[in-house]
Amino acid sequence: MKRSTGQDRSITSKWRPATHAVRAGTWRSEQGETSEAMFINSGYTYDSAAEAAARFAGEKPGMTYSRTQNPSVQMLEERIAMMEGAEACRAQASGMAAMTAALLCQLSVGDHLVAAKAMFGPCRWVIDNLLPRFGISASFVDGRDNDAWERAIEKNTKVFFFETPANPTLDVVDIAFVSALGKAHGIVTVVDNAFCTSALQRPLELGADVVAYSATKLMDGQGRVLAGAVCGSKDWIDGKLLPFQRNTGPTLAPFNAWIVLKGLETLDLRAHKQSENALKVGRFVEERVPRILHPGLPSHPQYDLARKQMSAGGAIFSMLLDGGREQAWAVLDALELIDISNNIGDTRSLICHPASTTHSSIGDAARAEMGVVDGMLRMNVGLEDPDDLIEDLDRAFKKAGL
Ligand SMILES: *Cc1c(COP(=O)(O)O)cnc(C)c1O
Repeated sequence: MKRSTGQDRSITSKWRPATHAVRAGTWRSEQGETSEAMFINSGYTYDSAAEAAARFAGEKPGMTYSRTQNPSVQMLEERIAMMEGAEACRAQASGMAAMTAALLCQLSVGDHLVAAKAMFGPCRWVIDNLLPRFGISASFVDGRDNDAWERAIEKNTKVFFFETPANPTLDVVDIAFVSALGKAHGIVTVVDNAFCTSALQRPLELGADVVAYSATKLMDGQGRVLAGAVCGSKDWIDGKLLPFQRNTGPTLAPFNAWIVLKGLETLDLRAHKQSENALKVGRFVEERVPRILHPGLPSHPQYDLARKQMSAGGAIFSMLLDGGREQAWAVLDALELIDISNNIGDTRSLICHPASTTHSSIGDAARAEMGVVDGMLRMNVGLEDPDDLIEDLDRAFKKAGL
């Protein structure tokens, strides 16, 4: 096996991200296969006892066990790291495995975390229910308010954690400001970049320390596998994340890694085309519902900040209807083309009612605090013809009295 990052055909950081998405992390066997081969194995063999000992001691290169190394997984890790502009990346079994590992690997009893209150329901559950069991406390702030981050810092604050844009309110956090504030106080900034991926937003270039992913979303983008990833400096990944991962085992399966590798080859194309479609459908929706939240539309309260840190608005928007849950469900039930589904980033257009699905487990109080109201619908715009999506929504809106 030879990396195509060898002497002959160097895939190095001199290439641009869209090129890395197609080519970085390709290793080739002596057959010279075009696409990456798939390695479905749990263990490795050694030529001698001494060779086994040397590999375990880290004195000789080579893999020892697929909980920590596998060629298919490592190809994916190299590709994501290169795309992200990160020194290192470790793939995880799912997005939630990535978020949990990114937090638990570096926080200890007595530590404090500051998080933006608008976030994916299970992330909120981890902070509200899991971390306190290990003596880790948290404060939630309005992530849009730069001063709130500063006010929330305590002597023992170790981590800033946020999504931008956030799920499902599409709040935008000023990555450069919050990361710089964190640096000044020795706080590690962790960004959940699932809504954008490196195709649309590059948190490390804006100063963030760690980027964590659900690769299930735009990276796979075709509704096939669960996957996650965490990127950061080599010191942080090797020193903090790797010992946690090696000994607790939230490892990505090689087959899933291979699927995501294939997904990444079209990521740039999909992310931009889905953003374009979302803008077109969003402009139609804006005429028909009281409020739409999409960072690509000038009506978004943080449109200028979104333009500064995102290269496009993304595939996802939320809409707020006056008729509460009854009207929101009526829209869903009247759709013929767009699927009722809580996934995002998919090439198929999907729509869901967050209050009764993705954000149902966090409770009424947390939902109210985040702004996840009963009349909210969240839509992922896919690659269908946007005019068909508009016709489907038009029909459903009429049936629901909009
Ligand atoms: C989906 C999602 C996750 C969790 O990812 P899974 O792959 O479903 O475990 C975390 N954060 C955000 C913002 C998400 O959208």
